[in-house]
Amino acid sequence: MWGVVPKVMWSAWTPAADDNTILLALRPFLAERGDVKVLVEPGVGDRWSPKLARIYGLVRHPTLDSSLGMAGVTPDSITHVIGTHAHWDHVGAWVVRRDGRLEPRFPRAQHYLPRIELDVARAADAVRAASYRAEDVEVIESAGILTTLTGNTEVLPGLRVHVLGGHSDGVAVVTFDEDGDDGAIFWSDVVPTAHHVQPPYIMAYDLDVARSYAVRSEWLERAAERGWTGCFYHDVDNAFGRVRREGKRFAVDVV
Ligand SMILES: [Zn+2]
Repeated sequence: MWGVVPKVMWSAWTPAADDNTILLALRPFLAERGDVKVLVEPGVGDRWSPKLARIYGLVRHPTLDSSLGMAGVTPDSITHVIGTHAHWDHVGAWVVRRDGRLEPRFPRAQHYLPRIELDVARAADAVRAASYRAEDVEVIESAGILTTLTGNTEVLPGLRVHVLGGHSDGVAVVTFDEDGDDGAIFWSDVVPTAHHVQPPYIMAYDLDVARSYAVRSEWLERAAERGWTGCFYHDVDNAFGRVRREGKRFAVDVV
């Protein structure tokens, strides 16, 4: 998660356990406007063997259903599901196994994903294979509830998906009311935690480091200029934070 950042720095922000792992969140975000209920990145899902769950240290509480319940939402009332890229820790919960069959977890929702992420998930090469499972997206596509995206798309009024790349071939950020006074951005793995707001703090997972650097520089600057509230998917302590300029660096005010 910290790439070239020295441990003496990152261990102050994300303390390491004895096995050098750090605690990360898998935090879905819900956006509501009347009957429109948008779920951004429903998380890792429950199709995990005990062995893999142990390797990744998956702790599944609260569950997605219990979190939705606390927000007063049922899975069937979700109208839109947005995936910023098809890594299994972001779209694993798109699909559920019922009576031995794989089915969409949100059958009434239209799902959105960058086009290239669908292509890559279906035919991942050796470099990408560990991060993708074809079934996560193929079940949704076969059900006829997948829309693929390129470039910059207004999926709903005021909600845009910007396909950027860098971390993965087509990782996207999602903006909410970006031209308004109270805009927000879901950073996905472009900025996975509130501590990753310096452009060189690039994860070792990232496929194209130069592209990541360019994308992160451009979008951190934009978020700081516009005062957007940032939503952090992997940050255990900070769900929301506003990026601002502090001299040559960026800083975050947690909100
Ligand atoms: Zn991730």
